[in-house]
Order: sequence, then structure tokens, then C-alpha cells
Amino acid sequence: MSEVVISARSVSKIFGSGADKVTALDAVSVDIFQNEFFTMLGPSGCGKTTLLRLIGGFEEASSGKILLEGNELNDLPPYKRPINTVFQSYALFPHLTVRQNITFGLEMQGIDRAKANHRADEMLELVRLAQYGDRVPSQLSGGQQQRIALARALAPAPKVLLLDEPLSALDLKLRKEMQVELKRLQTETGITFVFVTHDQEEALAMSDRIAVMQFGKIQQIGAPREIYDEPTDRFVADFIGDSNFLPGNLVAAANGKHALTLANQHVIELPSVRSGQKTGDVTISIRPERLGLVAENLADQTHLMGSVKSVIYFGTDTTYEIDLGNDQTVKVRTQNGTGAMDDFGRGERVGVHVPADAIRVLVD
Ligand code: ATP
Repeated sequence: MSEVVISARSVSKIFGSGADKVTALDAVSVDIFQNEFFTMLGPSGCGKTTLLRLIGGFEEASSGKILLEGNELNDLPPYKRPINTVFQSYALFPHLTVRQNITFGLEMQGIDRAKANHRADEMLELVRLAQYGDRVPSQLSGGQQQRIALARALAPAPKVLLLDEPLSALDLKLRKEMQVELKRLQTETGITFVFVTHDQEEALAMSDRIAVMQFGKIQQIGAPREIYDEPTDRFVADFIGDSNFLPGNLVAAANGKHALTLANQHVIELPSVRSGQKTGDVTISIRPERLGLVAENLADQTHLMGSVKSVIYFGTDTTYEIDLGNDQTVKVRTQNGTGAMDDFGRGERVGVHVPADAIRVLVD
């Protein structure tokens, strides 16, 4: 197990008072490990930037502690923390050259000019802009400026790099390129990256672990696959990826298994559920790509019967909306080009295949 670098211990942050009081963070506890790409993900206002700013020392916690390698950080000003930040607005000095932008902070720390220049060149090499050292920022593209901001933040070899939506100003193509680049920089430097985004795809693509936040609390923490495959509640299942939510009725069977009734018509045996899972009326979540479709004449009692309400073709896949009756619909996503699936037209009766292992019974 890696060592813990940053710990938040029951950290709360309250802004304002009286009617203007906002609880931006509500008793958040989390450990972030050495050499980890850790992402805080959530909708606007969930408190992710506030947590980042507390770690950086730009805000003070209302209660609770932030620790760096076990030592309390609360009173240490930002510039004394071995932590650097990359902001969305690259905040480069416009009148300094790229190299000077990188050496500036190093020289402020008392590193002599020759060493600082050497380090700057190493960093420019790392971000693959070795030939750009003598330019000024306005002579660079947005993506290149972002790389310089990264080079500058990495130059003093901080223990932790905080990144607040650093890619949101870039267009989609560049953003995708920079996602790969950021991941590479994190792996090559071994520095802990704490990354803030509201973009779930970005979080899934880059992170070792993701903390999904809502209303100032962490709802779930896990590796991308875990968050996507095993969401514990409806918020997480809905925020990350696409989900079908269906009402069901769960009954414990004598053999330790559970029987789930869906859409009043179909009983599925679930080999395992979360320990302590309540029975009776429950909500289940299923990813659209885990469902399958068959023509009505091939369906049997293991299928949920319905009719095709809409068909949307996306090139690589097709999304069908299936009306199951009783005001219940499910989305089914099928991959194109595999030859495995027929085309189904609007109004057609179909059977929906629901694999037992694709069903997640949600906590609430
Ligand atoms: P976004 O993605 O929009 O940046 P966020 O998840 O980063 O959102 P925060 O910026 O951490 O959210 O804000 C959390 C809550 O705290 C919000 O309701 C916000 O309005 C409030 N807040 C943040 N900073 C301040 C402040 N300086 N004064 C008052 N309220 C604040």
C-alpha cells in the first residue's frame, strides 16, 4: 500500500452566515496516496474547488484538519507548502519568456540562475516544448501555454500538484490530447496529482481514483471501473455514464440468493447483493450497454417484453428506447458492426435481455 500524502480529517467549510450561510464542505474525510492521480468530480457547487483550495492553503477550514504526510497543514501559508497549483487561466507572466516563466519561482526559492535554467530546460523537455524557451506566452497556442503552466508548476518538484479544471479552456480535440499528456506527466514524475473536474469522461480516462462529490460531501470513492460498475447510489449512477433506473421488488430466498421482480413481469435470480441490502421495494440501475435486444419471436420468459419507442444511430452504436408499459422505459445501447444484433424499427415488439450480473440494487 502506498503512503498517504494528503489527509482531510472531517473538514468542513462554511461561507457566510445567517441566511447567506453556505456549507461548501460538510465533514469531508479522505486520504490521497503518493503517486496517485486523484480526481474530485461533481456538479457545479458541490465543493470540489473549495477542498482543493483548502489543500493548497488558499482557504482556511471552518473545522477539521488537513494533513501532509501526517503533519497538520492548517496554519501553513500556501508558499510554504510543498504543493503547487495549476489554474484554468494559465496565469503565465506575459512579459517574461517561457524559460523565465519557469525559472522565476525557482530563483525566488534561492536556486541559482544556472541551475534554474537547467531545470527549466528539463521541464521544457518533459512537456515536449524544448524549442520554445525563448518565446513569450502570446506566441504560443492555448495548449502550449497550458503545458508551460504545467512545466512551471512541476519545476520545484512539489509533493502534490493541484489542478483546478486545467483543461476546460481548450477545445475538445486539444483537451483529449492534454488528458493523455497530463496522465503521462503524472506517471513520469510520480508526483501526486489532485485534479478537479465536472467532466465525468475526463475523470474516468485519467484517474487512479475518483471521489464523486455532491452537496459538500463525498458520495463515493473508487477506481474509475469501480465507480462506473458499482455505483452505490442513484446520484453516482446517474452522474457517471448513462443508467436505467427501474423499480423492482426484492425478496430474499432460502438459498441465500435474492429474487428480483421487474416491471411486474419478470423474476431474476440475483446471486449476490450488497451486505445489509434492504428487501421489498428497491431501485435498480443498469447500464444501457449491458442490455440486449431480441426479436419478439426469439424472446422467452427470461426477457422483458416491450416495444421500440425510438432509435438513435450514433455510428459506433445505436441507442434504442424500449417502452415496457406501466410508464417504464429502458435505454438499450447496442454496438454496431459486430453482426450480433439485428436492426429494430420503431413500434416493433422486442424482448430485452437483462443479465443478472448487470443489475445493481441501489442503496436508496
Ligand atoms: P464549480 O464547478 O462551479 O467551480 P465547485 O464544486 O468547485 O463548483 P465550490 O467552488 O467549491 O464548488 O463551491 C461550493 C459552494 O460554496 C458553492 O455553493 C459556492 O457558491 C460556495 N462558495 C465558494 N466560495 C465561496 C466564497 N468565497 N464565498 C461564499 N460562498 C462561496
